[in-house]
Amino acid sequence: MVRKARIVATIGPSVDSEPVLRSLIQAGVDVARLNFSHGTHEEHLERIRLLRALSKEFDRPVTILQDLQGPKMRVGDLPDGGIPLKAGQVVLLAPTDSDGAEPPSGGGSIRIPMDVPQLARSVRPGNRVLLDDGQLELQVTEVRGDVVEARVMLGGLLKSHKGVNLPGASLDIPAFTEKDRLDLEFGLKHGIDVLAISFVRQPQDIEVVRHAIREIDPNKLDTPIIAKIERPEALDHLHEIIHAADGVMVARGDLAVETSPALVPIIQKRLIELAHRHAKIVITATQMLDSMIHNPRPTRAEASDVANAIFDGTDAVMLSGETASGEYPVEAVTMMDSIIREAEANADKWGHGIQFPDEVPQEDSISIARAAKELAEDRNVANVALFTQTGRTAVLMSKARPKVPILAFTPEERTYRRLGLLWGVKAFLVPYASSVESMLSHVEVGIAASTDLQPGQQIVFISGYPVGERRLPNFALLYTLGDTGSS
Ligand code: PEP
Repeated sequence: MVRKARIVATIGPSVDSEPVLRSLIQAGVDVARLNFSHGTHEEHLERIRLLRALSKEFDRPVTILQDLQGPKMRVGDLPDGGIPLKAGQVVLLAPTDSDGAEPPSGGGSIRIPMDVPQLARSVRPGNRVLLDDGQLELQVTEVRGDVVEARVMLGGLLKSHKGVNLPGASLDIPAFTEKDRLDLEFGLKHGIDVLAISFVRQPQDIEVVRHAIREIDPNKLDTPIIAKIERPEALDHLHEIIHAADGVMVARGDLAVETSPALVPIIQKRLIELAHRHAKIVITATQMLDSMIHNPRPTRAEASDVANAIFDGTDAVMLSGETASGEYPVEAVTMMDSIIREAEANADKWGHGIQFPDEVPQEDSISIARAAKELAEDRNVANVALFTQTGRTAVLMSKARPKVPILAFTPEERTYRRLGLLWGVKAFLVPYASSVESMLSHVEVGIAASTDLQPGQQIVFISGYPVGERRLPNFALLYTLGDTGSS
């Protein structure tokens, strides 16, 4: 059975060689995520080069997702090996650029440099400061000038550049930073396919990035934007954020730290449902097979987590440290692939019926996608084929969740490269077509080359008409393979 949900894998040092990256893609990676919280432009450029070459070699798109860091707060430089913090200890948190003028009131209190210039303005006594994804916890006891005094509540080893979260604090930091802009310029220049933006709080955060794309390269304005949902404020604006973005990521790492681990499963289900209702893409991310960073087998809980995300209806599941810095990157992808296949084989029984988009204007294209799904089931056809220039027809058909594979044909290379992210879609890059007959002849060639379907078998075909006018789908055809209409 063809796997329908997509696998996103973060590319990092563990897979930075051609043979390993090839094995990773062979194991089933559809989308390569470049995490701009780590790595240099040179490193990312080499990854883009290798990914493009491998995508050609395997004759399928490996979509490149650029994940911008956003206003991630981090600890500054610490001594090699980090510093141990013990519960009850008092520490001083000071901006990295401070000159150390503030005398520590607590005698020999440890001073921790913080890459968070507005820290002292953002917290009050009693607030929590979480370090390293919440592994360590401090409580603010006093704010003096730009130095924050805090007591260690949960101790541990703190290393340089670990993430900082301030749950409940309202931070006056732009969502799109100077570093993000430089990274975006780099990404657009080198042809990334999809963009993810971190710590989105409101729909305007997405508009700011679109505005930046327009300034940098207006031809790339159609680059899909995935809003990472990880801040509590975003939860109050979900409809508007999903409406403004092309998709969302359930960024469960920071989300759990910023809200509570207990809320993550509920928010995941809510986001997946809302994304469907708006006909937008949804990726479920973080710690899906976390133990495979160090072990060749996942925990039972992790296997269940991946399967349940599929039953929830996610379009894609994501690996982070498992592939970027883990010891078993290829095994993690192979395991994820087999868990998804098993879940999909049982999705009719256990999957939650996905709602067809009802938060989008009921236009012809939505009706055609819905009708194509019904027609495919009614006539028990082998697949739904479609022609798309912008990729939107493929998104709508993917969201309609037909049982059979979706074959998406496009003459646009940029569109082709993005199709790797779409649930249930197999992509074909074909020459331009100027008539329905010519589109169907491309479909015939693609099907003959990639399936064992025979002339006489039926498919459903959808596209926009008139041909070549970048129309959303407005016709559906029950087509019999080999039926050129000449007899
Ligand atoms: C997350 O927090 O879950 C996430 C995907 O973001 P990042 O890995 O960039 O911290």
